[in-house]
Amino acid sequence: MTGTVYLVGAGPGAPDLLTLRAARLLAEADIVFHDALVHPDTVALAVGAEKVAVGKRCGRHSTVQQFINKRLVDAARKHAVVVRLKGGDPMLFGRAQEEIAALEAEGIACEVVPGITAALAAAAELKTSLTQRGIARSVTFATPRFGEGERSSSWADGINASDAGAIYMGIGESPAIAATLLAAGKPRSLPVAVVENASLPNQRVHYLTLAALPGLADAGITGPALILLGPQFAAHAVAGADAAVTRCRQSIRVASG
Ligand code: SAH
Repeated sequence: MTGTVYLVGAGPGAPDLLTLRAARLLAEADIVFHDALVHPDTVALAVGAEKVAVGKRCGRHSTVQQFINKRLVDAARKHAVVVRLKGGDPMLFGRAQEEIAALEAEGIACEVVPGITAALAAAAELKTSLTQRGIARSVTFATPRFGEGERSSSWADGINASDAGAIYMGIGESPAIAATLLAAGKPRSLPVAVVENASLPNQRVHYLTLAALPGLADAGITGPALILLGPQFAAHAVAGADAAVTRCRQSIRVASG
């Protein structure tokens, strides 16, 4: 008898942004393979499970992915409930498809439990709708990042054709992102909001414009961060300034007592 592998979304960071189904499966799990970024309190919900961190932050991603696939298959042959816990939503820039394919190829049952993706958590924190009525009727989720051996797609076309955009895994490439979007005709003044560590106590929000985006490399961003673009993010932008404005949630809390 083989077990079932559940690809479970852990949400953006805050442990209570988790679905009830995810919490139930964690409580039932025999073994949990979790991304390095998943909050320790979320992993701790798997009270009876062996916990295995499978970070992909360094090393060759494709090799690491094959290794993870194999471990999931092996675990399902030993355990009834195997949880693969991934940040945000497992199906959005989460390599879920490779894992589903590997499991199906071995005849192992798998299910996907959605999670709150970083873009939605970031928009919630900014209290700014990605699809604000009268301003944005379309939004594109994109990443400029592509892996070894993958075809480089024109990620910018979707952003250019949409009213609003959410760019994942883009911080290290912010100069190239700005150059690409400006060359495609996006205005220098396009409002941008960068949310780092969305939903966590160390969340930071940077409001800037597309022209200032290359300067983000010097903003000292170390946590996961999302780049949101669109006219609706102008509400908080400093008028006429190209410079990045950084607001720190912790300092706001201190100021407001
Ligand atoms: N499956 C995840 C995305 C994985 S790709 C999801 O649905 O959210 C990793 C990228 O997600 C990071 O480079 C960053 O751009 C974004 N990200 C993940 N967690 C984040 C957070 N708490 N705050 C801001 N961005 C985050």
